[in-house]
Amino acid sequence: MYRTSGTLADGRAIHYYDDGPGHDRRAADERDLAAFTPAAELRIDPLTRQPVLIAAHRQTRTAGSAGGRCPLCPSRPGHPSEIPADDYHVAVFDNRFPSLGGAVGGRTEVVCFSAGHDQSVAALPRQRLETIGRAWADRTARLSELPGVQSVFVFENRGAEVGATLSHPHGQIYAYPYLPPVQAAVVRAARDHRVRHGGCLLCAVVEREAAGPRVVSGTGRFLAYVPEAARWPYEVHIAPRRCAADLTALADDERDELMALYGDLLRRFDGLFDDPTPYMACWHQTPLHHRDVHAHFYGQLFTIRRDVDKLKYLASSESGAGAFINDITPEAAAHRLRQSG
Ligand SMILES: [Zn+2]
Ligand SMILES: [Zn+2]
Repeated sequence: MYRTSGTLADGRAIHYYDDGPGHDRRAADERDLAAFTPAAELRIDPLTRQPVLIAAHRQTRTAGSAGGRCPLCPSRPGHPSEIPADDYHVAVFDNRFPSLGGAVGGRTEVVCFSAGHDQSVAALPRQRLETIGRAWADRTARLSELPGVQSVFVFENRGAEVGATLSHPHGQIYAYPYLPPVQAAVVRAARDHRVRHGGCLLCAVVEREAAGPRVVSGTGRFLAYVPEAARWPYEVHIAPRRCAADLTALADDERDELMALYGDLLRRFDGLFDDPTPYMACWHQTPLHHRDVHAHFYGQLFTIRRDVDKLKYLASSESGAGAFINDITPEAAAHRLRQSG
């Protein structure tokens, strides 16, 4: 792993992960920035007991790339950005407008996948995907050591349709100081499965899916399938065929294999419609304090687009009742994804 770490003008950390040796990433941040002061608040809904982060300061955050000054492009003379170096492969830094940190605890980081403003992860060469995998694993290890962190969630929102405020290829990492609701539900299901049937819930799911009609793609060590009760028009889960708690639990060659499969799936998603598919990619690494019952992570890739010009909106049933309705059968979605790309 080729990592160079530095500090931005307001005290935030930045880490460069390079494909190989021989790159000087020590450029200083010459901006005049006010001190970095995260100010989010965590509240618990008394009815559903679900946690909600209140982060009003984010209303003023950077939107779009007005004037050609994208904050995620490398710095140019006279145009300093969030990334002081004049080039990079993968860069990770503390989010300037975080929804965690401060009194709430936790941390949010931005991960830039390429210096190329118009790049997409699907089109990156295999070596870069491997560097991204190494960066994700390294950040997961570091963030897992922070006091109070319970869960390290790696994700990417690609496309304005799914809320990406910057088009430059990037994702984020949230180190939650509490258990997010989906992970809490999976931990409960995994505990229940262990009591009733013994063994790992996800191992049982992967074994069943591998023999079923919803497989999209796979390798010797990973399986990609549309889940039985997919919520989204096109949704794929990517899981190791053996228990691995998070990305740090994979050997480098295993993670490289996973990233190659991930690239294949992104290309299949982009092949679904005429133009690039907006997507969300979520890596459900297992929570740090429940690994006695749940130690098998998975990735979740999905789009809200159900047809060329149709988006799946979260209306009353989904948003209000939390009851999802999917207009495409998971078996039909798997068939299309197998033929795509
Ligand atoms: Zn850019
Ligand atoms: Zn397992």
